[in-house]
Amino acid sequence: MSLLFGTARVNENDHLEIGGCDTTELAEKYGTPLFIYDVAHIREQARGFKQTLDELGVKNKVVYASKAFGCLAMYKLLEEENLGCDVVSGGELYTALKGGMSPANIEFHGNNKLKSELELALDSQIGTIIVDNFYELELLKELTAARDIEQAVMLRVTPGINAETHDYILTGQVDSKFGFDVASGQATKAMEIVTASKGLNLQGIHCHIGSQIFSSEGFLVAVERMIGILKEWKETHEYVAQILNMGGGFGIKYTENDSPLEPKKFVQAIVEAVKGQCSLNDYPLPEIWIEPGRSIVAEAGTTLYTVGAQKVIPEVRHYVAVDGGMGDNIRPALYSAEYTGLLANRISEENKDRVAVVGKYCESGDILIKDIELPELVSGDLFAMTSTGAYGYSMASNYNRNPRSAVVFVEAGQDKLVIRRETYDDLISLDCD
Ligand SMILES: *Cc1c(COP(=O)(O)O)cnc(C)c1O
Repeated sequence: MSLLFGTARVNENDHLEIGGCDTTELAEKYGTPLFIYDVAHIREQARGFKQTLDELGVKNKVVYASKAFGCLAMYKLLEEENLGCDVVSGGELYTALKGGMSPANIEFHGNNKLKSELELALDSQIGTIIVDNFYELELLKELTAARDIEQAVMLRVTPGINAETHDYILTGQVDSKFGFDVASGQATKAMEIVTASKGLNLQGIHCHIGSQIFSSEGFLVAVERMIGILKEWKETHEYVAQILNMGGGFGIKYTENDSPLEPKKFVQAIVEAVKGQCSLNDYPLPEIWIEPGRSIVAEAGTTLYTVGAQKVIPEVRHYVAVDGGMGDNIRPALYSAEYTGLLANRISEENKDRVAVVGKYCESGDILIKDIELPELVSGDLFAMTSTGAYGYSMASNYNRNPRSAVVFVEAGQDKLVIRRETYDDLISLDCD
């Protein structure tokens, strides 16, 4: 059974409707593959995090992780909803600024920020740089000294937590390319360097323990470790943090098999744990920042594909090929990620076949959904794959020189093109002959 989120519903023509727009009409207007974002759902997710934090009476900031999905219109939306954003490259930073994000609401992450990227960040006066390693620390000392400025920073630490998730997207454990290790004393060393640097103001510490996390346990252990570090620094160095940034990673529903905690519950668990640990350790309550990416946009996104060829191997498998694939959603091939979907133009028709939905790319691994029950399909049918709003378009490629898809925002019966479809001319526009 497929999942309908937010404003998605079946309309009187038995078509999938999102944001008051008939998806078959969107397909006709914009072509396929097409990413459709339910703007009301994005707003609801964003407000859910923000309101819960506010209601719990803590100073807070919700920082959207841009890498899940970013474009000018997305940044405009974040600004409307009073969210900050994090960026992990000069390109994301450039887009965020052009999209109208207030520099003060931008934080910069990454394990190998380039000198040119740090220069852009400093010159744009962004809110916070989350320092990942000693190399970056030295660069920042030089660059702030040369400019005679003070930049707010946080330290990313790896508290050594194994959140239950896929290995590829595990980032909080000790053996990680991200952040300062706590156990070996690197985090403390970094704190000493920053607090002794005239050009750097240490706001606090950050951790990100993983992605697509379903329960709060990992966060609770992380909070305990983070407050433990801060308590030690207070005692040994009289350093008191203003901000504790607990990262993102809140899970979403891709299929019926996924049962993540509600966003609100994650936030409640984190805030209660921070309050508890602070009072236990007699530590002043810091601001609590979180960085949700996937949980803000994943369920709001749907990809619409047109069905083309089919191949039936008797007793083996029935392949249904669509006009996109790994170029617009690499996650099934990269992480064995599972998705579901539905026939957007005849929703209530009875399921008839078990099929594999595959893409058009020249890779046997270009399989979007291995096994799904669908009605009998004909070429031209519209297949809607759900929960594709995170790490789909943002990881898109031009493999096989397929143009990247268009992206449309829908809300209250209105559709708005936010990223146009690439053309063949776009594809050769960088080529020099
Ligand atoms: C990717 C990332 C996030 C967001 O993760 P989601 O799983 O999309 O919520 C937040 N913070 C950091 C540092 C990240 O790398």
